[in-house]
Formats: sequence, structure tokens, C-alpha cells
Amino acid sequence: MNIAPNRLGQPAASQEAILDALFHPTGVDGVYGRSGAYEAVVEGLGALITQARDPRAEIVRFPPVVSRALIEKSGYLKSFPHLLGCVCALGGDDAAIGAAVDRFDSGGTWTDGLQASDLVLAPAACYPVYPLAARRGAIARDGLIFDVASDCFRREPSRDLDRLQSFRMREFVFIGAPDAATAFRDDWKARAGDFVDALGLTSRVDPASDPFFGRGGAMVGRFQVEQALKFELMIPVRSAEQPTACMSFNCHRDHFGETWGLKSADGATAHTACVAFGMDRLAAALFAAHGVDSARWPASVRRTLSL
Ligand code: AMP
Ligand code: ZN
Repeated sequence: MNIAPNRLGQPAASQEAILDALFHPTGVDGVYGRSGAYEAVVEGLGALITQARDPRAEIVRFPPVVSRALIEKSGYLKSFPHLLGCVCALGGDDAAIGAAVDRFDSGGTWTDGLQASDLVLAPAACYPVYPLAARRGAIARDGLIFDVASDCFRREPSRDLDRLQSFRMREFVFIGAPDAATAFRDDWKARAGDFVDALGLTSRVDPASDPFFGRGGAMVGRFQVEQALKFELMIPVRSAEQPTACMSFNCHRDHFGETWGLKSADGATAHTACVAFGMDRLAAALFAAHGVDSARWPASVRRTLSL
């Protein structure tokens, strides 16, 4: 079921053309160097998102790595263990580390000397903001809004341009009363169409579920759809028939509130919601719709992105 059916436009540029013109292969699927022309579009998108930000929002930029304990406590392993990347480093004393290097030098493997560190790669931008807010005590009556961003990693190697392993995510996060969290999410769900209209893109909003892992996963996914917890803004990148989720609108109910002890002044557990902008998917959607040469894009789109 589509919430706001809209005729989606066929891409003007193929994935191959976009890859050739704007990306540098690194030899790993889903990991690319990016050209100046591509980054100018990502920067323009970033400025546009900033314009749309609630003036109350507090800005926090997170590094691409997150505490492993934080991600474990967030319940990520129960839901998405297949997507998580963990930072490993050579462990032991100098002799053990030296032995691993020697094994490599003599044509063997050095990676068996690796040990998991206390860091994982950030799977989404918003995870570290909940404990940050909880450390400050009770949530203000009108709730809190954050503008967060980070480079993200998900272990889903693919040749598709819209399924990267390393990509950028910007998010607006709300923490506060249950009704206000839903209203925040729904407001963004309603505004997103206009946001991408201004970029000359066609889109529709679909109910969605996350790619939960394992046997229970399909059930949790169905629950998410039934409870209308997640929606996605779908825009053609590969094709109009199979549009790509370029933004998501999420209600977490009391999940992060319970996990981190987020309380409102009256002692009730706070609810949280987030709106995620997939910066690289939005940029890819723009190149797909308007062609690989941004100098030839419609003047209004170029103006909107300050190109
Ligand atoms: P999610 O937390 O899954 O809702 O993801 C938030 C947004 O990040 C999505 O709407 C996408 O735009 C973007 N995203 C998620 N996974 C990928 C990926 N593998 N490659 C590029 N962008 C992604
Ligand atoms: Zn989020």
C-alpha cells in the first residue's frame, strides 16, 4: 500500500554512467571515492537540510566509530547483527604483533592475530545521541531536537550504487512525549515530498520495516508495518519500478527511552523518533534524474543546491 502514490520518473542516467562519471572504484563493492562534482551536490543537499532544520535543534557531529558497548546496549545485535562492522586491531604484546606481521611477510595470514576492540563502525547517525541526552537529566517539557550526522557502515556489499557499505547519514532526532514524537515524525513525513519536489525528483512514501535478522525477523518487520513505526521516501535511482529508500521516518516508541533511562520531568519514559536523510542515495537520485553532468541540470535545481 502506498500512502501517497505518485508517478515516479524513469532515471535519465544509468547506474553505470553515474559510477563512471562520478565515482572512483576502490576494488571493494559499495566503497567508492567520490568526485568533486558529486561532493558539491552532497554539500548542496546538506545546506538545504540545514535550512529546513528546527531552530531549536542542537547540532552534534559524530565520528564514524561508536562505542561497542553502546551499540550492544542499544539492542543492535538482536536486530541487525549481519550488518554490523566491528573494529579489530592486532592484540597481545609486541612479540605477538610482530609475529602476525612476520606471518604476512612470509605469505601467510596476519588477520588471525586480530582482536575485537571497544569500537564498532557507526551503523546509523542517531545511536550515540540518546545516552548523550540521558546524561543531562530530565527531558525539557517541549522535548529535545538534535541534528546529527556521521559516516555510516553496513555490511551489505553490492554492486548497486544505492546499496553502499560506507555512506553518509544526516538525521533529525526528537526526544520527548509520545504524541510529540509521533507528530515530529509525521510532520517530516508530510514535508519530505515538497523537499524533494524542489530538487526536481519524483517520490512516494511507503510503509516500511527494517531488514531484521533471523527467524523472528519477519515477525518484527510485520509488527513495525502494522504499528506504522517506519516509513520511507522512495525515489527512483535504479528504476521507477524499484525505487530506492532515500529517507526514513521512524518512531522508536519507548525503546531508547527505556534503554537509556530517558525521562520527562514528570518521570514518564520519553519516546524518540528520527528522520534520516541518506545523503548518498539522495545525491545518486539527483544524478539519476537529471543526468551525470550537474552543469546541465535544470536551473531551479542548481539554484536550490547552490551549484
Ligand atoms: P535506515 O536506518 O535503514 O532507515 O536508513 C536511513 C537511510 O540511510 C536510508 O533511508 C537510506 O537513505 C540510507 N541508507 C541505508 N542503507 C544504505 C546503504 N546501504 N547505502 C546507502 N544508503 C543507505
Ligand atoms: Zn535514527
